[in-house]
Amino acid sequence: MEVSLRLRAELAEPAAELLGRLAANGVAIEGLDDQGQAVLVRAWLPVDGSLASRQAELEEGLWHLGQIQPFPSPSFRSVDEQDWAEIWKREYQPLPIGRRLMVLPSWSTADPRGRLVVQLEPGMAFGTGAHPTTRHCLELIEETLRPGERVVDLGCGSGILSIAAARLGARRVLALDTDPRAVELALLNVRRNRVAKQVKVTLGSFPADGPSRIEPVELLVANLRSDTLIELLQAGLAAWVAPTGRLLLSGLLDTDLPNLRTAAEKASLQELQVRATDDWRTVLFQPA
Ligand code: SAH
Repeated sequence: MEVSLRLRAELAEPAAELLGRLAANGVAIEGLDDQGQAVLVRAWLPVDGSLASRQAELEEGLWHLGQIQPFPSPSFRSVDEQDWAEIWKREYQPLPIGRRLMVLPSWSTADPRGRLVVQLEPGMAFGTGAHPTTRHCLELIEETLRPGERVVDLGCGSGILSIAAARLGARRVLALDTDPRAVELALLNVRRNRVAKQVKVTLGSFPADGPSRIEPVELLVANLRSDTLIELLQAGLAAWVAPTGRLLLSGLLDTDLPNLRTAAEKASLQELQVRATDDWRTVLFQPA
């Protein structure tokens, strides 16, 4: 059963979060006009014994949201399995990024037009290339990575950044995530892209017991939440980066920058570049 809501863009996130709790296969958000003012949020509910209770939960959730601001009613439409797969696939288009990269869904037969291909099986983990923070990271990896460098991808999600780094000549990439589903998907994507020799995927994070045993890398990428980034910086994350290396931090909103900058300064990091799309920010640092 397809549930769809047409909304003003600022309502998309609460709507998607509500639908995401009810639909195991994720939520699609599409722009309906060029100004980004109107969006369509869709999700697909399994038609089984749980449908009625999911619909009731949806209505209740929308009622609650409606107490804060007016919310439109959802439309329901039944679609068959085939349709569902097609709709889902239409959301993932070939995505040229930067000057040299092309992110392709795993089923795509599109011509990469001479670009380096990152092929992805979209799953339940974040990292399709469509999000501005992922795009910033890919662009800055492309612009700054020198062949032969070592990379850490902290919070690898689908593995997109690790695979791109390997394609761009990284000698060794350590992809870490604390979510086992992300690790599983990243492993699948790393194998599919045939970069398993360079990219090691592991469940884990920056060691809480201190950075003493880790081997420094030339590029550390972390596309996480800003409070997590700040905690990691306070725990000594910068020690993971070689004196000649760089830290690429993303997942930040404009309003997160002051606190992040304070934490970065305390960690003796020097800011090199900021990339901005809408409210999203990505910052490149180097050890001072
Ligand atoms: N690197 C991908 C995915 C970013 S989403 C991209 O740029 O698109 C953030 C990921 O970080 C999620 O998969 C989440 O499970 C993971 N994560 C969150 N906190 C973490 C932490 N402290 N250490 C390692 N991974 C973390």
